[in-house]
Amino acid sequence: MKKNNHYIPFCKPCLIQNDIDEVIDTLKSGWIGTGPKTKAFEVLFKNYIGCKYAICLNSCTAGLHLALIASGISSGNEVITTPMTFAATVNVIEHVGAKPVFVDINPDNLTIDVRKIEKKINKKTRAIIPVHFAGHPARLDEIQYLAKKYNLAVIEDAAHAIESKYRGRKIGNISDFTAFSFYATKNITTAEGGILTTNNKTLAERIEILSLHGMTKDAWKRYTHKGIVQNFEIIYPGFKYNMFDIQASLGINQLKRIGQLYNRRKHLYKRYESQLKNLDCIQLLKEDRDIVHSYHLFVLLLNLDKLKITRDHLRFVLDQHNIGTGVHYISLHRQPYYLKKYKFKAQDFPIANDVSARTFSLPLYVNLKEEDQDYITDTLRKILKKYKR
Ligand SMILES: *Cc1c(COP(=O)(O)O)cnc(C)c1O
Repeated sequence: MKKNNHYIPFCKPCLIQNDIDEVIDTLKSGWIGTGPKTKAFEVLFKNYIGCKYAICLNSCTAGLHLALIASGISSGNEVITTPMTFAATVNVIEHVGAKPVFVDINPDNLTIDVRKIEKKINKKTRAIIPVHFAGHPARLDEIQYLAKKYNLAVIEDAAHAIESKYRGRKIGNISDFTAFSFYATKNITTAEGGILTTNNKTLAERIEILSLHGMTKDAWKRYTHKGIVQNFEIIYPGFKYNMFDIQASLGINQLKRIGQLYNRRKHLYKRYESQLKNLDCIQLLKEDRDIVHSYHLFVLLLNLDKLKITRDHLRFVLDQHNIGTGVHYISLHRQPYYLKKYKFKAQDFPIANDVSARTFSLPLYVNLKEEDQDYITDTLRKILKKYKR
């Protein structure tokens, strides 16, 4: 098999001169902490989503954590979520002392299986955290129905789903809280960063205070008060979760060209689909008709019964051929901390368990070249043929 002359990484951020210039402008401005650029980014984001409030934070994880605290969730409470997610979604439930309760996933798109949620609701249940897996929204109507019926908070993990829509409504404008990520690999990036959206004024104010030490006035406002000395008050032992202006500057121009970035990923995603759809050794995920997908990840499932190679071995062979891949995810009920603490059995979540052994993700980013994508699908096809049962 002919090997490419350069390594194709699994992911790569797309930063242009415009983004770099904005950062330099901030560095030269004399204000590098949380200030005008962070506020400008919040306004842009809020307008993009169409929601009332957006609070910039230093990660999506921070957003999920604060959303749980602001919803009054603590020890003795249970929170329903999916095991097919990044650890952060569930770690934050542990952070507030509550118990994560997993619900298995829908095999078509790997989001939480809404038909299995109600059985898991009891007197201790306080919230549901759906994850919009790879950018495919979870079934929010069913989730909102259960949330109303049992008086639960809904906190969406939209780390993959900035551009997504559910039945015509923008993700970030539907539930009590929605957390987005600007980590280096996400659809737009501030290197590290996140934002939490809500339409509830009281909750938004609570989040803002919690995100910066529990202070009632943020530093920027304190220092720019012309000649007026104002002391801050600590009303809660809050966190150090604020985004700063250097981060926000990286995000501002990417958000302005988000449609262009999205179109490019969608083009590459659809190209993968058409190049791989006829391979009987792999299974592609499906897309509901009433959603807009963010095309954050291109995830494949191997039909292991038709192959003489494991997922991990296949990834190794692809790496040897200069192709980087990812795994999204090994179900959290198989991870040592959760396995030990909650004594899960593999078959407690049969779909998530099965997917954990079969799933892997191919490179998908704006700067991925068509010729490299052709090389990826070609190489994959040849390897699968070689290892076919
Ligand atoms: C990346 C990611 C997070 C965490 O985002 P950070 O900004 O790194 O905290 C949470 N959930 C999912 C599903 C993610 O992919």
